[in-house]
Amino acid sequence: MHLERSTGRRLARITEPAREIDVIHETDVLVVGSGPAGLAAALAAARAGVGVTLVERFGCFGGNITTVGVEGLAWYRHEATVEANGIGREFETRAYEMGAAVPESQSQSYELDAEGFKVVADVLVQEAGIHPMLHRAFVAPVMDGDRVIGIITESKAGREAILARRVIDATGDADVAHRAGAPTYLAPREQLMAASVMFHIAGVDKRRFVEGVAADPQTYKDWAGNGEWSIETSGKEDDMFSPFLHKPFKAALDAGLIPADLTTIAGTWGAVHDSGELTYMNLVHLAGIDGTDPDDLTIGEIEGRRQAMHAITALRAFTPGCEQARLRNFGMTLGVRDTRKIDAVHNLTEHEVREQGRFDDSIGIYPEFIDGYGILVLPTTGRYLQLPYRNMLPRRVRNLLVAGRSTGGDRVAHAATRNMAACAVFGQGAGIAAAVSLHDGVEFDEVDIAAVHRELDRQGVRHR
Ligand SMILES: Cc1cc2nc3c(=O)[nH]c(=O)nc-3n(C[C@H](O)[C@H](O)[C@H](O)COP(=O)(O)OP(=O)(O)OC[C@H]3O[C@@H](n4cnc5c(N)ncnc54)[C@H](O)[C@@H]3O)c2cc1C
Repeated sequence: MHLERSTGRRLARITEPAREIDVIHETDVLVVGSGPAGLAAALAAARAGVGVTLVERFGCFGGNITTVGVEGLAWYRHEATVEANGIGREFETRAYEMGAAVPESQSQSYELDAEGFKVVADVLVQEAGIHPMLHRAFVAPVMDGDRVIGIITESKAGREAILARRVIDATGDADVAHRAGAPTYLAPREQLMAASVMFHIAGVDKRRFVEGVAADPQTYKDWAGNGEWSIETSGKEDDMFSPFLHKPFKAALDAGLIPADLTTIAGTWGAVHDSGELTYMNLVHLAGIDGTDPDDLTIGEIEGRRQAMHAITALRAFTPGCEQARLRNFGMTLGVRDTRKIDAVHNLTEHEVREQGRFDDSIGIYPEFIDGYGILVLPTTGRYLQLPYRNMLPRRVRNLLVAGRSTGGDRVAHAATRNMAACAVFGQGAGIAAAVSLHDGVEFDEVDIAAVHRELDRQGVRHR
């Protein structure tokens, strides 16, 4: 180990000696990250008949669903909504069948139970015969020229290598693509979507809470009402019910009950349970957090928990039914909405997302649902776009697909494709493409889209 002391503004540096790392596992398809994208990718590839390994840094599968507590998988769904109906839909139905979902408050969908979904994901992984590897964080790619042929992980067992015939990056942050040298884009922190500490509360009187909501129903237009946010809708959303909470926090600010600087506390609740739990409290919004910077993440976790406790104080004082409410739990980790995007072979554009983009290499459809950067459009009309395979193909690096919220696109495109159901569509398409490319012995950029479509059809995914 060689230490170079700091000079002037340059930090001290250590040169690590080269070392040998055991290859502990080899697989056909390696999926890194197990959120809606990674879980769907692993399931789709396994169901297409290849060997699959799923690596995850935390102790459960599910990504933001289980580790952050994001329970609203399809809160956009209304009567006319048209969807891909693949593994994303299966997440909902399976969870409901296993007692890990309840009807969602504003839509024709199920709200997942963040804790129960851990078990649902375990069962899905086991049923599909996927090799599970929890508690291992990807730290570096194993490269053969410009091909990613495996990864190095860090864990309690130290550094270990896993080799793979095909690799899918579903880390949400494009960690694998970035470290492998594929071009990625990370917006300056002040332009990134806010991060959130999510929480769930207990001790709510459901009857009184529901009566209070009915007595003063909020709409999506009210999202703009707190002076801190603006919201562009398509107009039709303005009179639709939204499980939105802002008034209790305004009242608490006016009463001096919570600190005067907490003007951004507002947002939605997901489901109120018979047991008195009010879950998916999406109320804390922290600007200026770069989710790839652990110092920012540290600030976000601590500040987010502080704000959440003030939010509960306000709810207890000013929300009918919440007088005896208490914190049940925080998400296991800070919720990060927005970090690196790859520069994909095709980057989705605002125009394609708003105007029903159509692509020959579609791997699944996604309803016209845009939520982010101050825009909200709900898919109430049957309009939809197709998601192109090339959106997952990074430049400069081969043998790698990137699925989930780090696929390429501009800001408004991201406000659509970051959503979990879209991430699941991408994941399923990536898993199938990996299996097809292995079966045909071709590279990812030579995959026979017609064969991908046949397997998508077989797996029940609408792509046209
Ligand atoms: C607070 C909040 C509220 C949201 N609300 C909604 C909503 O209501 N509806 C909706 O559809 N979407 C919502 N989103 C967006 C949505 O949750 C994400 O965009 C989506 O989960 C992204 O899916 P993904 O599979 O790409 O990544 P993730 O869900 O982030 O999963 C990535 C997985 O990779 C793992 N991982 C990361 N790095 C490594 C590594 N180096 N090694 C090993 N594993 C790694 C992570 O632990 C994680 O399990 C919300 C997001 C946040 C933060």
